[in-house]
This record gives sequence, structure tokens and C-alpha cells, in this order.
Amino acid sequence: MKILVINCGSSSLKYQLLDMEGEKLLAKGLCERIGIDGHLSHKPQNGKPVFDEDVAMPTHTEAIAAVLDKLTSAEYGVVSSMDEIGAVGHRVVHGGEKFAQSVLINDEVMAAISECIPLAPLHNPANITGIEACKAVMGDVPQVAVFDTAFHQTMPGKAFMYAIPYEYYSDLKVRRYGFHGTSHRYVSKQAAALLGKPLEELKLISCHMGNGSSICAIDGGKSVDTSMGFTPIAGLPMGTRCGDIDVSILEYLAANTGKDIKELTNILNKKSGVLGVSGVSSDFRDLDTAAGEGNERAALALDIFHYSVAKTIGAYAAAMNGVDGIIFTAGIGENSASTRAAICQYLTYLGIEICPVCNSKRGEDIIISTEDSKVKVMVIPTNEELVIARDTKELVEA
Ligand code: AMP
Repeated sequence: MKILVINCGSSSLKYQLLDMEGEKLLAKGLCERIGIDGHLSHKPQNGKPVFDEDVAMPTHTEAIAAVLDKLTSAEYGVVSSMDEIGAVGHRVVHGGEKFAQSVLINDEVMAAISECIPLAPLHNPANITGIEACKAVMGDVPQVAVFDTAFHQTMPGKAFMYAIPYEYYSDLKVRRYGFHGTSHRYVSKQAAALLGKPLEELKLISCHMGNGSSICAIDGGKSVDTSMGFTPIAGLPMGTRCGDIDVSILEYLAANTGKDIKELTNILNKKSGVLGVSGVSSDFRDLDTAAGEGNERAALALDIFHYSVAKTIGAYAAAMNGVDGIIFTAGIGENSASTRAAICQYLTYLGIEICPVCNSKRGEDIIISTEDSKVKVMVIPTNEELVIARDTKELVEA
């Protein structure tokens, strides 16, 4: 079965077409500036040329139509007709408390995803638009929703409740949801395979460190705590997001800057994190360079990040009363040996020792701790699209 995986943003649409026989990537690409003018970059994996040009995309429907046109075209295509695509899997950001796993999409599911819009006002509407656009262009091809929040629905109340009046939870659904669940789920399974042990017997801490970063405590294959919260702004400081801060800062800043809560929240989301501290960049490569050239604020931003990751790992080792393995994944986790080494310097109390040679490798599932290290440290490249495709196949075949 061939499966189209879609990740829709408000003005963008990322896609991959996978052949599930051998889990082979056939093509991938990105539509940008949807609703503005439109640009498609399409990369077939069969040796055919890349298409990288402006294409009119007034809505997501034209974007999906353009993607299908390229996937089936003689010049850029990888399949002969749309009929070869057996199903579509969508990344959906927020499933609230309704979805603890992926689901086949029907009218009831669409209504439930709509109900979660207040919890993810920027993301869920875009995801809904993507699903509707596929329906408009592809008719009755089965579609599946895979939620970023679903994996964390196993968290116990003590981990997901905030200590605020209970009715804010019962009436308004204010609680920790957590995100990056598809990634944490994937890498924890891979880690068990790498360690040669059943996932059910392992206590793992997964560190997804990219533009957005979150850490997850995974006990016996289940998420028991995670650093992102009601929204993805919480937890670690990130590229541009502040992570956990004292909530009173908002009122103080509003009083002293004249900015309202909306403006300030925007600053905490888009102008904070390592960008805000360093004044240099949200990209860790730029920070490494600047710090190497003596920029003290860039070095401080990196220190804050490493310290915050190490503190959270310590908290989760305590939460699970132990840890067998720590996983690094996503853009920073997979590529930055210096970040991994700096974080692990805080973790010698856990008996962790890093092998510098292994830590310098890239692009594969690998153990980077020494043979003697009490806790195994791993780098596992994440693959959220593959999880979405696998879930889609399983649900459609069932
Ligand atoms: P992601 O959101 O997973 O795509 O991660 C993107 C982020 O990964 C970028 O913004 C960079 O900060 C980071 N990144 C990618 N490559 C490297 C690298 N070689 N060294 C440090 N950071 C990197």
C-alpha cells in the first residue's frame, strides 16, 4: 500500500509518499505561501528531476491538487495514477483528551478535532483544512489522523494536572497535554530494539531537541510525564520560545512595557528562548559559531539550554525512580555532538560516560555511551512521517 503523509500548516503543506512494502520513501515535498501566491518544491526519490517553482495556491485544495499532479506526472512522478494511493495520514497537533491513539477520520472525528480548536487555535484549523482539501481532491480515499498529543494521554493526574482551581480543568480543559508524542513514541521503540530489551521493561527519557524541544519520561513504553504543557511554549527554553517562566512575569511586563498579554505572549513564543537571550539566532549552529568567537550571550544561551535539559532529565529519573536509557533526537539532538556532550557532563552522577568517537557519528541509531556506562545514552534519528504512515496502514487494513 502507498500512503501519502500530510503535515499541514496555516500557509504550508509538507508531504511524503511512502510505499509501505519495505517502508520506502517515494517522494517528498513542501507547498509554501498557500493563500498568498504559492510555491511547490517536489523531490521524487526515483532519479526524476526536482520540481521547484511557483504554482498558484489560493487554498490548500489547489496545493493538494498540485502535489497529486506532480506525484502522477510523467516528468516528476513516482506513481502512474492517484488510484495507487491507498490512504492519507495526517499529522494533527491537538487531540485533547478525546484521542489517546490514531483514528480513521469520519464526521464524528472531524467534529472532535474541531472541538479542540480552542486548545490549538493556530494548528488544528490548518490540519482540518488539509483533511478537507484531501477529501475534495481524492474523494473517498481513507484518511487517518495521528495526534501529537495522543502518546501523552497515559500521563497520570499527578503529572498532567496544574495546581490551580479544579474547575479550570473540569470546565475549561486546562491541563498538561504534551506534544511531539509521535516522535517520542517512535524513538522509544527504536531504543528498545537498539538495546535488545522489551520496551515494557525499560525506563527511558527521550529528549526531542529541535526548533521546538521537549523531554518525555517513558516508563514501560508509556509516557508518564513530559515537559511541554497546555501549549508547546512550556518546559525547556527553545529556539524562540521561553519555556517555563514565573507566570507573574506577564503581569509585571504588561505594567512596565505597556504591551498587552497577546503581544507579550507573542514575544514569549517568537522572540524569546535562545534567540532572546543571545540576540544572535534561534539556530544552534549560529550560537555555536558565535560562542566560539567569544560572544558571551550566545554562550549563556547554550548554557541555559544544556542546564535545563539536564535538570529535566534529573527530574524524570526521579519521577520513574530510575532510568535505563536516555535518547537524543531531532535537529539538535541528532546533529550536535557538543550539545549532547555538554548535557551529559551534568549526568555523571547517574554513572553516565560518553564515548567521544561514537558521539561524533551521525545519521544512524547508535549508543554513544561507553560499555561501562550504567545508563545507556543513544542518538536516534526521529521519523514522525513513518509513524504516521504505519498507523495509517494499520487502521486502514483493520
Ligand atoms: P528540527 O526542528 O528538528 O528540524 O531542528 C532544527 C534545528 O536543529 C535548527 O534550528 C538547529 O538549531 C538545529 N541543528 C540542525 N543541525 C545542527 C547542527 N549540526 N548543530 C547544531 N544544531 C543543529
